Amino acid sequence: MDVSELLDSLNDKQRDVVAAPLQNMLVLAGAGSGKTRVLVQRIAWLMKVEHVSPHSILAVTFTNKAAAEMRSRVEQAVGGNVHGMWIGTFHGLAHRLLRMHFQEAKLPQAFQVLDSDDQLRLVKRVVRALNLDEKRWPAKQMQWYINGKKDEGLRPQHIETHYDPTEETFVKVYQAYQDACDRAGLVDFAELLLRAHELWLNHPILLQHYQQRFTHVLVDEFQDTNAIQYAWLTMLGREQGKVMIVGDDDQSIYGWRGAKIENIQRFLKDFDGAQTIRLEQNYRSTANILNAANKLIANNNNRLGKDLWTQDDAGEKISVYTAFNEIDEARFIAGRITEWQKRDLAASEDSLDDVAILYRSNAQSRLLEEALLQANLPYRIYGGLRFFERQEIKDALAYLRLINNRDDDAAFERIINTPTRGIGNTTLSLVRDAARSMEVTLWRACQTMLINQELKGRSAKVIRQFIELIEQLEDDSINLDLDQQANFVIQHSGLKAMYQAEKGERAEARIENLNELVTACQTFEMDPELMEEQSQLTAFLTHAALESGESQADEYEPAVQLMTMHSAKGLEFKLVFIAGLEEGMFPSQQSVEDIGRLEEERRLCYVGMTRAMEKLYLCHAESRRLYGQEKYHSPSRFLKELPGEYTEEIRLQNQVSRPKSSGRFSNTISLETFENSGFKLGQSVLHQKFGEGVVLNYEGNGAQSRVQVNFADVGSKWLVVAYANLTAL
Ligand code: ATP
Ligand code: MG
Repeated sequence: MDVSELLDSLNDKQRDVVAAPLQNMLVLAGAGSGKTRVLVQRIAWLMKVEHVSPHSILAVTFTNKAAAEMRSRVEQAVGGNVHGMWIGTFHGLAHRLLRMHFQEAKLPQAFQVLDSDDQLRLVKRVVRALNLDEKRWPAKQMQWYINGKKDEGLRPQHIETHYDPTEETFVKVYQAYQDACDRAGLVDFAELLLRAHELWLNHPILLQHYQQRFTHVLVDEFQDTNAIQYAWLTMLGREQGKVMIVGDDDQSIYGWRGAKIENIQRFLKDFDGAQTIRLEQNYRSTANILNAANKLIANNNNRLGKDLWTQDDAGEKISVYTAFNEIDEARFIAGRITEWQKRDLAASEDSLDDVAILYRSNAQSRLLEEALLQANLPYRIYGGLRFFERQEIKDALAYLRLINNRDDDAAFERIINTPTRGIGNTTLSLVRDAARSMEVTLWRACQTMLINQELKGRSAKVIRQFIELIEQLEDDSINLDLDQQANFVIQHSGLKAMYQAEKGERAEARIENLNELVTACQTFEMDPELMEEQSQLTAFLTHAALESGESQADEYEPAVQLMTMHSAKGLEFKLVFIAGLEEGMFPSQQSVEDIGRLEEERRLCYVGMTRAMEKLYLCHAESRRLYGQEKYHSPSRFLKELPGEYTEEIRLQNQVSRPKSSGRFSNTISLETFENSGFKLGQSVLHQKFGEGVVLNYEGNGAQSRVQVNFADVGSKWLVVAYANLTAL
């Protein structure tokens, strides 16, 4: 690519950025305006035109995947490889620095990075070693505290406790945890950033080396940087006028994890001579999608303010689908994807990779996964585990498996110490050895060892308690329905309490997932052919194992992308579905009372909507069984914030939606057929939850047949006749 080509594909504003003189620069612009593209082109420009060596360039992105993509795009643009250039996440770059300067960073050469689960386990051990009550000082909360302090750049000795005993205990745990890490050569995620920062603070010569080396520093998604990342960047580049950041305050969605939108304005103050350039043309989405998203975000206060327009056609309207429940929602989405596949895929180069289903919480994926499987659509969960692979789900399933089959060694291993029972490695090794020499399973080995009194003292006691727990769980739950059995086991195994004690977003998600497992049991239908052969529990466990083992598309197969809106940041897809737009789901229940959190939810919705290029579906369900309970939610306020001119409503799957103007009684079946089903228009009916109402309308046939009832208390609702259990009055 020659130089003019580098600029040809850009608009004037974008060109200003790409070809700007060396200076500190903020590119502030809305979604899809080409921020990431401009950043890539800028790197190519620096190399091709300014003859900057790749060795002198440092670029920061938000995920490792984005970093890999940026590298390949730059290589494409310059037509060669870019060895020596540093591209990565803040964590990845900090890690590299620490590896290179382990001695200065006072780390052993072979230091290990601790992932979040390992970190939690270590914190737990520390809490116990300090003889603190684990209930009063839950490890998860400690972990949250430690990471929070590290993100702010604080070591234990920097923290002012003001003699507050609680704070003092926190600091004590932080210190003891840090000592344990240092002894073992372990570095957690937050420590990577903090240590890299300290490395430079304590070694000015090293800092100077990197300041001289990196003559160009570029940061994407800047709105989600935290305090320590900002500090690190400041040290590297503040005075030399070489930092270019791109970001969008409207897309700041990690406030809950310490990200600070204010860093954008701080940048303008702190970095010498920083210039702001705004990009205003959106190239991603059709006008309907873009205008609707603009209107939505306009409901937030204190925005830095940006105009965003597109030359694109209006395009199709945004479809808003009101599902009668969550299963209907999932089937609708799968149905629309199948249609799109038949109609558009055949005629173009598009692939299923161009389709994304976005949701607020990971627990929502299960039903969507099921519907996609049924529709034979390959899918991939992006940046997360499939439902049945998640830690808490595997824990709960392991209990059920062991209850079902005592010889399931994998299940035994998984839960023998989950929640912690104080069964040490020595005891476990004894059990494993015994099992091996007797050629029996772990469970049998335990029983034999107890009988022969081969286990002593505390070991004998805790192993016996575990055996009794499993026996008791089986006795107490054997006659329950499957969902009640699962619920009972989750409660009485101690799993729920363990996860409840963890606190924080992640813990909440785990509890949600556990409740969702109960729902999965509730709605699980056995293969009628196999009813005789196996119990419901066995059938369900097989179902879970198969689901987790095989259904995900392999890496190279085109597949529908499933992900949370958080992980969709920066990405784009032709066809996008957002599921679960209901009050209490999205915005989430916890956010509706706090204006700050509500605005962050709205930004998240803005991020979700602006992923769509050609067609956007927004779905909500009138009733939803989630987290083990059936709830009736009203449509999300975000739906109401979208002007009607950009949206159209769809009511029923596989049938033409009725134009609103065609009158009340336009139907797909005859009145006679409908009335044969036992209801008449205008008839009074009683519903268990909604009370009394009057039948207004009907549609669909057979199992699909639905009635619209105007209820005195809750207004008008569409209900499936087969499920609604209406009594004629
Ligand atoms: P986000 O805020 O979501 O990260 P962004 O501002 O980084 O979005 P990009 O992903 O860089 O936007 O660009 C959005 C889409 O518009 C991409 O497909 C990109 O290739 C395209 N695009 C950007 N600028 C132009 C241009 N001048 N001409 C044609 N297409 C463009
Ligand atoms: Mg981007």
